[in-house]
Amino acid sequence: MSKEYRVLLYYHYVTIDQPEEFTQEHLEFCKSLGLKGRILIADEGINGTISGTVEQTDQYIAAMKQDDRFADMIYKIDEEEGHAFKKMKVRYRPELVTLRLEEDVNPLELTGKYYSPKQFLEAMKDEDTVVIDARNDYEYSVGHFRNAILPDINTFKDLPNWIRENKEQFEGKKILTYCTGGIRCEKFSGWLRKEGFDDVAQLHGGIVTYGKDPEVQGKDWEGQCYVFDERLTVPVNRVEPTVVGKDYYTGEPCERFVNCGNPACNKKILCSEENEHKFLRACSHECRVHERNRYVTEHELSEEQVKEKLAALV
Ligand SMILES: [Zn+2]
Repeated sequence: MSKEYRVLLYYHYVTIDQPEEFTQEHLEFCKSLGLKGRILIADEGINGTISGTVEQTDQYIAAMKQDDRFADMIYKIDEEEGHAFKKMKVRYRPELVTLRLEEDVNPLELTGKYYSPKQFLEAMKDEDTVVIDARNDYEYSVGHFRNAILPDINTFKDLPNWIRENKEQFEGKKILTYCTGGIRCEKFSGWLRKEGFDDVAQLHGGIVTYGKDPEVQGKDWEGQCYVFDERLTVPVNRVEPTVVGKDYYTGEPCERFVNCGNPACNKKILCSEENEHKFLRACSHECRVHERNRYVTEHELSEEQVKEKLAALV
């Protein structure tokens, strides 16, 4: 049965003149269609996830196709029961993807080879291949390719430095990179080539496309794929789904994300509802006793009640 709503995920690297003006216009346009979501506009292109009815999203795609800059843009489409966002936000950023580089990489000039899901699956089997996850640690924590390397970094921005420090692991190998929808790999794989790695390929369309591909059906993907909307995760592997996420507190299988209750920390952790209550939705003692802990305020806990909960943890 077909559902009434859709979520569109898309990006396109293309030069946008006067991007700040375009940001304003685009916000008005999206609102006029009744869409919700988050779109980033930069001098180097556009990146968005939006939700709306089938009709609204069709209108959006049709209008974008009329614009030469976005005529070739590819949309990943999920059918859903409702919106995946509460508001419509369009923001201007200097760059779509930040790699904290002295000199930025323009994917229109230099990027890795594009591999289809099938080519990517085949290439992963080769012994002389290394697969690098080009995402953040919390994204990896709930799902990743079976043999993928997770760079030991906190955010995607730290990736170039980590690669330089671990260079010997990759020299002389074929390097495969992947991310959610493909946008980060466009830049990261270009950067790898600029660094002197010759044999670099990226998963075209990202994990989301890999999961939808009728032939590979998400094979060799473990767990779920983290997404940047209210769904938080989406399935990928249609052949043999597994759970790799682990409860932050107990290590039990878990795919439920919360943000640490301390607004100054906000770390994304996986935990069961039960453990969220037990540990006051916080990643550490410091965050549990933080004066602005959101779990405490949302549940209107008295000082006494907080003390009781803390005592139960000792
Ligand atoms: Zn915390």
